Amino acid sequence: MVKETIRYFFLISLLTNCINAQNNSFDFEVTPVTKNVYSIVSPSFGLPTPENKGWNANSHFVVTKDGVLLFDTGSSETIGNKIKNAIKTVTNKPVRWVINSHSHADHWLGNAAFSEADIFSSKEAKETMKKYGKEDLAFYNRVTKGTIGKTQLVYPTKLITKHQKMNLGGVEVEFIFSNNSHSHGDVLVWLPQQKIIFGGDVLSSSWMPIIINPKKVPDLIQTLNTIAKLKPKHVLTGHGVVTNGSTIVRDANLLSNVWQQVKEAKSNGKTKSEVLTSIETKLAPTYKDLYSNFTSEIKRYVEVLYKL
Ligand SMILES: [Zn+2]
Repeated sequence: MVKETIRYFFLISLLTNCINAQNNSFDFEVTPVTKNVYSIVSPSFGLPTPENKGWNANSHFVVTKDGVLLFDTGSSETIGNKIKNAIKTVTNKPVRWVINSHSHADHWLGNAAFSEADIFSSKEAKETMKKYGKEDLAFYNRVTKGTIGKTQLVYPTKLITKHQKMNLGGVEVEFIFSNNSHSHGDVLVWLPQQKIIFGGDVLSSSWMPIIINPKKVPDLIQTLNTIAKLKPKHVLTGHGVVTNGSTIVRDANLLSNVWQQVKEAKSNGKTKSEVLTSIETKLAPTYKDLYSNFTSEIKRYVEVLYKL
C-alpha cells in the first residue's frame, strides 16, 4: 500500500482538476499526425476510475511497409484490444513491434493484446515491471472496480540499449534515454526523417511536466533541452493532446525557473508559503492558461522542491 501510494502520488496530484482534455471521446479515436503516424489520445488523465475503465494514457503508432510500430499499450488487455481495433480502422497490417516507454502500468499492461509482436523496453523498465506488475494490476483492478477487465502480464521480449537505432519497415527509429528523469529506464523514440518524438511521460502537453522524484528535475530539464535541440515538428506525449516542440521549451523554462527560485528563496531564509506566493505571482500570468493544472501542481512543485 505504501509503495502504491508513492508510485501513484503523481497521478493523484493530477486528478483534482484535470479530467478534461480536448478530446472528450472514450471511443479510441485515431488522430492522424502525418501520413503514416497516428495518435490515440485518452480523454482522461489522472487516476484510473470506473468511469474511464482504466484508460488514462495515450498510445501512438506508425504504419510502416512491413507492419505497425506501436508506442505504449494502455493499462489492460481490454484497452490493448481496443487500441488494436482502432489501428485496424487505418490499416490491415499487423502490429509487429511494440515499445513500452516506461514501467508505469498505464503504459504497458495492454501488452497482453500484442503478445505476437516484439515488445521493446529498456532493461531497467523491464526489471521494474517484473517487480511491480502484479501489484499494479491489483491496484488498477481495485480502483476501476473491475471495469478494466482481466489482464495477463506480458513483459517486454527485447531490450533497448542507449543510443540504439533501428530500421523498422523502412522507418528510422532512434531511442533516447532520459537519464531516468521520469522513472527508471524511460525511453523516448525519435523518428529523424519525420522529426517526430514519442515522449511517454517525460514530455507533456496540456498539463504541467510530471515531477515524480524532485531530485531528478535537473535531469528532466537536461532531457527537455536535448529534445528541444532536435526541433521536433510533432510531440506525442503519454497524456494529453498532440503538440509541438514549443511546449518542450516552455516546460524546460518553467522547471528551470521554479528550481532556481525555490533554491534562491530558501537560501535567503524564506518560508515555504512565502516561496509559493512569490512563485505563483511571478509565474501565473505566463503559465496559468498554458496548463490545465497549474494552480494545484505549482503548489506540489514548491512542496516537493522545498524539501530538497
Ligand atoms: Zn509515467
